[in-house]
Amino acid sequence: MLQIENVSKKYGDLLALDNVFLNIPQGVCFGLIGPNGSGKSTLIKIISQIIQTDVGKVSYVRDSKDILGYVPQDISLEEKLTAKTNIEFFGKIYGLKGSRLKERAEEILKNVGLLERANDIVENFSGGMKRRLNIGCALMHNPNLVILDEPTVGVDPQSRRYIFDIVNNLKKEGKTVIYVSHYMEEIENLCDYVAFIDKGKIVEEGKINELLMKYSETSVYLESQVPYKLLLDQGLEPKTYQSGLLIKTEQPLDTLENLIKISKENHIGLEQLSLFKPKLEDVFFQLTGTDLRDQE
Ligand code: ADP
Ligand code: MG
Repeated sequence: MLQIENVSKKYGDLLALDNVFLNIPQGVCFGLIGPNGSGKSTLIKIISQIIQTDVGKVSYVRDSKDILGYVPQDISLEEKLTAKTNIEFFGKIYGLKGSRLKERAEEILKNVGLLERANDIVENFSGGMKRRLNIGCALMHNPNLVILDEPTVGVDPQSRRYIFDIVNNLKKEGKTVIYVSHYMEEIENLCDYVAFIDKGKIVEEGKINELLMKYSETSVYLESQVPYKLLLDQGLEPKTYQSGLLIKTEQPLDTLENLIKISKENHIGLEQLSLFKPKLEDVFFQLTGTDLRDQE
């Protein structure tokens, strides 16, 4: 669908993107995640042809701008006009008119849950409603590739659910979605692929379930009364994690066996002992040392 090759971008002396390569397959939901200032918006503005890359290139399977629906991070709507007028404006830009325009506007307003508010002035809408309307505007021309930049920031829970539904429906229709966020659970729930970006560099990318697998079997999680010192004596390096300990190991099965043996020999009960199943957040933390939970 989309190939990004060797893309770098500077703002003055600041290197915002550093040699980015990505391949985004047709029909997937592709998550782009990274801390604030890591270059996410810059990258998708380049993909959306809003700004130009300094070097490298972006190539589409089909060479037409019409395939693309871009929802910017900063909401851009005419606040003094109604929801319907805003929606229809975007439809007109893409050449819709007459009854086709009216029908499509109604369909989209319904999809984003704003049909009842169609004739209300946007100024009075909540942040979440504005966000939904802005998404609707980008969908008027039925794009094949939809790019959403942090669509749930500053959005109420109800609108957030609507936005997830919109994304899931786009996926069902076979559209390609690029979903930019710094909320890891959203990416984990919505997307099939993810790219982690940090300081303008892609630090890891791939299918989410494969990445979770790749980073999983390297630690063992333990909840037990086994004294810390006993673990250290075994050459293990436990770290506090949630209500237990995380033990990094290259041989997780041997480590599990060893921990069972230690607890048996010392007559100490085990509350929990398992292979560590990381979340995307943990993978990102392993890769960058950055905790996105601090990014709120
Ligand atoms: P993100 O979307 O991940 O928060 P951005 O792509 O917006 O990151 O920004 C990446 C870096 O580039 C940041 O340090 C930001 O301050 C800087 N930046 C973004 N846009 C501009 C611009 N128009 N002029 C100068 N610096 C910019
Ligand atoms: Mg951004």
